[in-house]
Amino acid sequence: MEMTKERVVVVGGGVIGICCSYFLAKRGLRVTLIERNGIGSGASFGNAGSVAVGHTPINKPGRVLEAAREMLNPRSPFRIPLRWNPGLIKWLWKYRSHCNKESFERSANALSSLGHATLDLFDSLVDQENLKCGYRREGFFEVCLTNNALEHINSDVRTMVRYGYSPAMMSAGELREVEPALKETILGGAYFPQGATCDPFRFVLEMARSSEKSGARIILGNEVTEVLSQDTKITGVLLDTGEKIEADTVILTTGSYSQRLTQKFGFHLPIQPGKGYHRDVRFSCEGPPPPTHTFVMSETSVYCSPMSGFTRFAGTIEFSGMNHDLNKERLNYVTNSAAEYMSGLEYSEVISEWTGLRPCTPDGVPCVGPVPGHSGLFVATGHATLGLTLAPITGKMIEQYVLGSSEEFPQMEALKPDRFM
Ligand SMILES: Cc1cc2nc3c(=O)[nH]c(=O)nc-3n(C[C@H](O)[C@H](O)[C@H](O)COP(=O)(O)OP(=O)(O)OC[C@H]3O[C@@H](n4cnc5c(N)ncnc54)[C@H](O)[C@@H]3O)c2cc1C
Repeated sequence: MEMTKERVVVVGGGVIGICCSYFLAKRGLRVTLIERNGIGSGASFGNAGSVAVGHTPINKPGRVLEAAREMLNPRSPFRIPLRWNPGLIKWLWKYRSHCNKESFERSANALSSLGHATLDLFDSLVDQENLKCGYRREGFFEVCLTNNALEHINSDVRTMVRYGYSPAMMSAGELREVEPALKETILGGAYFPQGATCDPFRFVLEMARSSEKSGARIILGNEVTEVLSQDTKITGVLLDTGEKIEADTVILTTGSYSQRLTQKFGFHLPIQPGKGYHRDVRFSCEGPPPPTHTFVMSETSVYCSPMSGFTRFAGTIEFSGMNHDLNKERLNYVTNSAAEYMSGLEYSEVISEWTGLRPCTPDGVPCVGPVPGHSGLFVATGHATLGLTLAPITGKMIEQYVLGSSEEFPQMEALKPDRFM
């Protein structure tokens, strides 16, 4: 069997793995990325494409209670189907313990500081690497139909201002002036100027191209079945073909599928898949002008993201274990609920339907850093609703861990994967 000497192996070719590979290859390391399917074929393929910096984490105080109350409400974006799943029950118990003010503030603090840095990185990457991914640095809007949601937006706006962002509340009239596709039913909302939209799949493909240009090797269609080690030192990975690839450093960026490869090291990552959907539509020229701005519909948490030649509606979060079943009811929910906020959907045709699994941690903060006790093994996963947003800064943090870069990210401590032990 041929043994190939490599320095860094990145496992998983989603947006996180590609960004890690890019920054490491840029620093001259010999990087091999291994993806079992195609580049960006997991959650990174069809997300809403929103670089939603400063976005509050998923562990809002009272969230579990709210979800329990909403369990039977088909209109709720948050769903936990009743099913016997001990792993999920354990995770929900941990999640519940993080849905309090103190933990929420800790998570929001970590995420919001990273948000400022990641947005700068997006701007410079798109520019320097000439990424053709439809990147629009124009912020995004949140719109609502009810007073209750308006209060929530107001509270989020106040939280974000404390963390150095400059969102502003907007009246219904102001919102409709900017986005005429919005209906009279809108009560008001907010504008988040620090934000951007891109086609997420094209971003991953373009970053993969840039990584390869910087010397990274990308292997597709091979699954990593085991991380190899000798004593406490990582030595490489084993592929499903039986081939071994040697490495001094292995970075696991396997999204919702991350638990299997760390189990051997007695390290349990508390990740649960948070399932979401997208439905892409193309508007006919017979109807009113289609939306031109990205906005999130507050009560439903569904994004409307105009992209090149189509509009994406994406959202909902469902904890139903590891499955990719396309639930038509949830898909219909994505566009039917959007029709309450905007006009013109009756003049559109569906061109794509998709489901993806967000890797979620109980405290809403990703796990980025070393696996304790094993020199050379790192994880970068658990980005939940913010994987695209935080991908560049995650790549930078991994670069810092592997190489000891000069930049300092004080939030790295809050992201340490062993914080749940
Ligand atoms: C509906 C929806 C909307 C979203 N909207 C946004 C948004 O607007 N903004 C935002 O920032 N985020 C958004 N997200 C979240 C974002 O998509 C995820 O956080 C992000 O894609 C996670 O990236 P990842 O690289 O960790 O995982 P993935 O993209 O899932 O990549 C993991 C990869 O690892 C591979 N893999 C797994 N195991 C192995 C193995 N053993 N060997 C080799 N390969 C392996 C898989 O095939 C997969 O390709 C959304 C998610 C959903 C579902």
